[in-house]
Amino acid sequence: MNSRIPGRPISTPSPLVGSSLDEGAFSERGLLERNSGSVMLRSSMPTPPKSKHEGEIEKVKVYARIRPALRDDETPGALVWSEDDGQLTIFRPEAPVPQSDFVFDKVLGPGASQADVYAAAVSDVVADVLRGYNGTILAYGQTGAGKTYTLGNTAPDAIGMIPRAAAELFSAAARDALHMYRITMSYIQIYMEMIQDLLNPAADNLPIREDAGGVFVAGACEVQVTSLEECLHYLELGEQNRVFAFTHLNAHSSRSHAVVMLTAVKSRKYLNNEERAQAEAPDQDGVVTQRVTVGKLYMVDLAGSERLKKSKSVGLRATEARSINLSLTMLGMCISARAQDSPHVPFRDSKLTRLLQESLGGNAKTSLILCLSDVRQHADESLQSLQFGARASRVCNKPVVNERLQMRQLTAELLAALEEGNERTNGLEQALSQTKEERDALQAALARERARTAAIVDALRAEAQAKDEQAAAKLAEQAELLSEHVQQLGQVQQQQGQLELEVAKLRAEQHVREEFHRKEVAELQQRLAELHAAAAAERRAMEAEARSQHARLTAAAQQQTAALSSQLAQERAAAREHAASIHLALTRLQRALGELVSMPPSVEDGGGGSSGGGNASGSHARSYAE
Ligand code: ADP
Ligand code: MG
Repeated sequence: MNSRIPGRPISTPSPLVGSSLDEGAFSERGLLERNSGSVMLRSSMPTPPKSKHEGEIEKVKVYARIRPALRDDETPGALVWSEDDGQLTIFRPEAPVPQSDFVFDKVLGPGASQADVYAAAVSDVVADVLRGYNGTILAYGQTGAGKTYTLGNTAPDAIGMIPRAAAELFSAAARDALHMYRITMSYIQIYMEMIQDLLNPAADNLPIREDAGGVFVAGACEVQVTSLEECLHYLELGEQNRVFAFTHLNAHSSRSHAVVMLTAVKSRKYLNNEERAQAEAPDQDGVVTQRVTVGKLYMVDLAGSERLKKSKSVGLRATEARSINLSLTMLGMCISARAQDSPHVPFRDSKLTRLLQESLGGNAKTSLILCLSDVRQHADESLQSLQFGARASRVCNKPVVNERLQMRQLTAELLAALEEGNERTNGLEQALSQTKEERDALQAALARERARTAAIVDALRAEAQAKDEQAAAKLAEQAELLSEHVQQLGQVQQQQGQLELEVAKLRAEQHVREEFHRKEVAELQQRLAELHAAAAAERRAMEAEARSQHARLTAAAQQQTAALSSQLAQERAAAREHAASIHLALTRLQRALGELVSMPPSVEDGGGGSSGGGNASGSHARSYAE
């Protein structure tokens, strides 16, 4: 391909220079290759992978991202979804399908921000890459559905997944005090079954190879990046080369698959020189062996999945479309074969599937982002994307940590290669500085790019800062709440103390009162006993008094009775005497009467009367005598 490199020249850092990390620890035997006149890094390591961790089966995660309607002629309403449970239904009233309901790991609607998409679909994969796993992020969907926006957007207000993932790799590496990281980057595209290196456009038909370390693009430039800014620079450079290549061919970027690969090689930091010397001691062959973990992150912006018939392509477009269709069709077939656990998966039938072999049912954690639009006119394409996603969600991977024994042998050959590479870089730089205008143009482009990069970095930093501030505010709120609680607890404890004091006081008072009452009761009881005793004594005295009075009264009564009796006897005697006197008188009277009776009657009536009268006087005298 007749191409030149716009922007900054590719300065391909060798693994032994220009790194803030300990480059020596990362250089490997067989890592350097000569390729088209410059030193190239191979993306794979020659030593066999050694896994400490048994891989666990893990499903390919599928996320549906629905972009907002962008133009007036787009009629929304093709999709109905629920973000919480990942359900999504497609409506095609003109051609209903039996299976129109789908369930994915998450649905991200038009309101979802890039940060939301990152948190849902990418963040965990990046964390795993730092732990030594392979990770893949795929964006699938028809042209215009938002794949490039989602992955590669660099507008500061909507930064895509690739810059975010790079930023996270660098910030996580900076946070990890126990390890050192070497982060490298490759950027390729597959266009009409040819692999082009977007960091070195001269390499425009690279082969895919496989060794014990996995599948790799042989000869693809792998640049070491030590900062987010540097990474953004290479992304920008690759993007410019992509545009240039397509302009040159009168083609369009939606016709190719673009793959950004970030590799994080992690090794232990040594606490002191002694520890380092021990770990890096060469064996008898002079070879230094070191354990490292290697995590590779593939981020793939797939070509548009629209159908050839619909795009009405002819000529080159038709060839393009056929090759895109071929690789996407093969991708679909491989996914179907994997999902059905088929013994044969046709990975080798296209470059794309060959490259993604590990990501689809192999050693990788994979997130597929289905880019969709809720537009009725695109319902067919959306349905096709949804069906693709549904098949992919049945694919299972078995990721393992890529732990390798890394060997280092600084041979003269290696150093010579390095020297040669440096010389070539210098030559390139000299050639570039030949014309002043060209250099000025380059500098201006560089300044523009720097400004752009700085804007992205600033935006990401601002986002991170906002997140930190939010977290700090939340922490402060929690701390305030905690201090409030502590204060409240203190108050409660104080109140409790006071209450306890009061209770103690009340108890003491109660005790005193009880004592007092007890004494009072004792006194009262004593007094009562005394009173009882006094009452008893009084009662006894009264009883004695009563008895003596009774005796006195009895004696008086007896006296009186005796007096009365004697009086009665006297009176009886007097009465008897009187009766006797009366009797005597009567007797005298009777005698007188008898004498009278014996004398002759002188008066007649006196005769009769005297006999009667004699009787009467006689009975009268008897009754008196009686
Ligand atoms: P693709 O790469 O799938 O062909 P693009 O990413 O180029 O699609 O997106 C097409 C258009 O839609 C672009 O103008 C892009 O800015 C816009 N777009 C895509 N997704 C979104 C989104 N979530 N929010 C706002 N605009 C979007
Ligand atoms: Mg695109």
